[in-house]
Amino acid sequence: MPFSPQELQDIEQLLRRRRAAVAAELRSETRGEDGLLGLPSHRGEGDRGADFEMEAVDLAQGLRDAAEIQRIDAALQRLRDGGYGTCEDCGEEISPQRLRAEPEALRCAACQMRFERSHPQA
Ligand SMILES: [Zn+2]
Repeated sequence: MPFSPQELQDIEQLLRRRRAAVAAELRSETRGEDGLLGLPSHRGEGDRGADFEMEAVDLAQGLRDAAEIQRIDAALQRLRDGGYGTCEDCGEEISPQRLRAEPEALRCAACQMRFERSHPQA
């Protein structure tokens, strides 16, 4: 565990702030109650292609935000149960520099690169 208790507290606060910001963004994008599955409900009204394109963009952004919230929740969970800072794939410690830049990171830089190569949409 490369972090002091004080640092871990700071990271938890950072994650919570980030989660709140992303959740607010998600609510405004999807216009749903709590966001996660609140997809646009006016699909099929009218026949203007531009609307559909707008919705597709909103939807893609909404899915990215929902995925980020899941990552933040997973990181908060790992802060609580002590697994924070350990790579999900290889079990090595994630570098503190990487975690300061991206506190919700679940993988070390090498595994993240491998993951992104095998999941181009993620
Ligand atoms: Zn790794």
